[in-house]
Amino acid sequence: MTRTPTIGVLALQGAVAEHERALKAAGAHTVKVRRAAELQGLDGLIIPGGESTAIARLAAPVGLMPAIRQRHDEGMALFGTCAGLILMADRVLDAEALEGFDRVRGLDVVVRRNAYGSQLDSFETELETQQIPDSQRRLPAVFIRAPIIEDVSGKDVEILAQAELGAGGSHPVVVRQGNRLAASFHPELTADHRLHDLFVTLSGE
Ligand code: GLN
Repeated sequence: MTRTPTIGVLALQGAVAEHERALKAAGAHTVKVRRAAELQGLDGLIIPGGESTAIARLAAPVGLMPAIRQRHDEGMALFGTCAGLILMADRVLDAEALEGFDRVRGLDVVVRRNAYGSQLDSFETELETQQIPDSQRRLPAVFIRAPIIEDVSGKDVEILAQAELGAGGSHPVVVRQGNRLAASFHPELTADHRLHDLFVTLSGE
């Protein structure tokens, strides 16, 4: 049997308890992370949804964004959901409110904040996926003022789900690049935890 991975959830703001519940159901130990020292020994970290500007502002005084990036460069896996995707993206369009604040970066995509927001504020849908466990079953997905992945520039970025939502055509909504996983919606808010299962597996690799 393989060992149980320890996965942190960044707990500055946003949906923390729901991620912990999903991770436990997927067989991981979980830890809330509020300080850089709490990143030690983690196999993976979830950067949750919430408000990317609030998370970036709260992280700044304790230097958490560069510390996460350093641990990630040393091998810690990352899973960003909604605001967490924004904080992991290499490029953010309409990012004035994030200017001057560190982000983790590293995920080779371009996102636009609140792009599903104005017409569709919050909605649930079912996605076709690939390369997640049992992917012939559709994955329920809750979008809350979600970012759009406008461009996937990195050649090694795999699109695990893509959807046509609103007026903007079809866009990726789940991507993976090595040990980076990101979703534009809130996978912790449904009872279907297959993305957490995938993340626990890739954190343990
Ligand atoms: N609109 C939020 C932001 O820019 C993201 C929304 C979410 O995480 N549900 O951070």
